[in-house]
Amino acid sequence: MSLIKRTLKTWLLLELLRGMALTGKYLFKKKITVEYPEERTPLSPRFRGLHALRRYESGEERCIACKLCEVICPALAITIESEERADGSRRTTRYDIDMTKCIYCGFCQEACPVDAVVETQEFEYASETRAALYYDKEMLLKVGDRYEAQIAANIEADAPYR
Ligand code: SF4
Ligand code: SF4
Repeated sequence: MSLIKRTLKTWLLLELLRGMALTGKYLFKKKITVEYPEERTPLSPRFRGLHALRRYESGEERCIACKLCEVICPALAITIESEERADGSRRTTRYDIDMTKCIYCGFCQEACPVDAVVETQEFEYASETRAALYYDKEMLLKVGDRYEAQIAANIEADAPYR
């Protein structure tokens, strides 16, 4: 009996027809996928992507080298060295983030008293080399300069919920 059933199934192409019916059913349904990278989904203002160091409008770095971010980082991804300037202010001489260690928890951003270190909505920075994911101060400041308008808008959008 089962042999007859199997033979009939094969000759009548039942499985093929069942598969095509399923394809046909989804062909006219609303698409739930996007064609990345041409199409993109919206990102939350709280999205935690690539880090940036910000400046004030004057061009001065915001970071005051308090090292709170370095202390709070659970992954030990941040390395800071600092020195006092002639005017008595303190600034970093080295600010590195090892993105291969970072777990994108956002603690550094939360701890910063002057909103100097932030996580941007940039997520397309994959690399084939480990070295390229080691961001130094210049690189982080450049990210900040590039995304400052977006960073400021996101901080403002999130402010009512803090
Ligand atoms: S996001 Fe978290 S793990 Fe990454 S550098 Fe900041 S504190 Fe460290
Ligand atoms: S980024 Fe913020 S928390 Fe980190 S050292 Fe600079 S001022 Fe302090």
